[in-house]
Amino acid sequence: MRQIKSADAVTILHNDAPKVIEEINDFTSQTFKTRGGRLGSGMGSLLEALWVYYMNKTLMNEGGLARECELAWMQDHEPSDFACLQRGAEWEPRSRRGELFRIEAKSMNIGVDEAKGHFTNLAKETAEHDQLLVLIWSWTELGNNYSWPRIHDYFLGPSLPIIRARDQLHLARGGLFVDRRECPDGCAPEACTHDGEPLNAARKRERRSGPQSCKPANVEYAANFGGLVRMLKTDNDAARSVFRRLRKADDVVHAYISFIHTHFPSEEINHFKKAEWQSVLKSLGIKANNVTAAEANKLLREHVPDYQDHLRRLFYS
Ligand SMILES: [Zn+2]
Repeated sequence: MRQIKSADAVTILHNDAPKVIEEINDFTSQTFKTRGGRLGSGMGSLLEALWVYYMNKTLMNEGGLARECELAWMQDHEPSDFACLQRGAEWEPRSRRGELFRIEAKSMNIGVDEAKGHFTNLAKETAEHDQLLVLIWSWTELGNNYSWPRIHDYFLGPSLPIIRARDQLHLARGGLFVDRRECPDGCAPEACTHDGEPLNAARKRERRSGPQSCKPANVEYAANFGGLVRMLKTDNDAARSVFRRLRKADDVVHAYISFIHTHFPSEEINHFKKAEWQSVLKSLGIKANNVTAAEANKLLREHVPDYQDHLRRLFYS
């Protein structure tokens, strides 16, 4: 057994990911074609599971260092869905012994306005090399009224930069995080299990594990925190300024924002003001007369493949 470093295992999975998506699509287009196809069908979870099986097959067949890694399902009550293990190593999930990193997997249907995927893992539950995987898919017509669940795109990147950006934007929206020294449940600081739990602007808990005294009236928790799309929303200048500073400062945050905005165009259109969209066109030498924000966005998508890099460059605080 050759020892493999977490960072090298991450690189291997990143390199294999495009091929794995292609293989899943080959398989599902043959096997999962069906009449109809509904949202909330559980198909997203099935695609996440397929990703694990196809990645494992690829790692095994690849040989070399790749064969030293294997993916495993996390057992109950552990944060994250999957772990990348050193193959053959003894695994102790509580201490992470034998693990190279963990993966939180989410799937979003492209046809749905508000994706229901939530990324709520806290920084304290996350290690440096842990990854977030997001699959974007939809039922795609095959003809003759048959369709299949096609994965259109994916994001695979380190979790921590996204968690930090999510948390900054949560604060910018008036939310906060429990401090064990002043827990709303009145816990003794050394016994408090709520440290770092998110509360929203109304001081209601956003995860089931938050303080009991912050439970909303009719549900266990508020469940807005960490929405894969929602976490990026900005509805005032102060929040927009935080968003732009975060995007400017971190390549992973920029990649995640660009990924979500690519597949949810109205989020991107709404983030910038009409005058800002027009100024982007102008600075890139695209002639357009008093276009709307949506028209400007469409022009950029058509004519400037790396327009999101320009958005990052042009707007920051
Ligand atoms: Zn507490």
